[in-house]
Amino acid sequence: MGKTDKGEHPLMFDDYVVQQVDPQWLQERVKPKRHIGLTPELCILCRACEDVCPWECIYMMSPDIVRDADSPSLMTLASQSHAVFIIDDNECTRCAICVERCPSDALWLGRVDN
Ligand code: SF4
Ligand code: SF4
Repeated sequence: MGKTDKGEHPLMFDDYVVQQVDPQWLQERVKPKRHIGLTPELCILCRACEDVCPWECIYMMSPDIVRDADSPSLMTLASQSHAVFIIDDNECTRCAICVERCPSDALWLGRVDN
């Protein structure tokens, strides 16, 4: 479990539903019309992004957390991955500090298309 200057990340629960972010929903938010993107091929799993996030809303999780997904392709992707990268969009402020910290340019700040 990653540590920050505030201590260890909180325990994760598994009684949640993983969903893709709906662009329409994002458009209706007060937050900037931005999102954090990941290019998985560039990620070296250093977890620096997780540590630097001021809101502790990045989680690098075991692929085992993906269970009973509606999409077979998502299940296949999880089974072939080393980690699942999750950002809690309710907490993320799009400050892009994680983007600046990423040593391999795997993270990027994107604009939500209209
Ligand atoms: S943009 Fe800021 S708040 Fe959002 S995940 Fe990155 S560091 Fe955390
Ligand atoms: S900082 Fe970049 S390379 Fe390191 S775990 Fe995060 S996304 Fe991957």
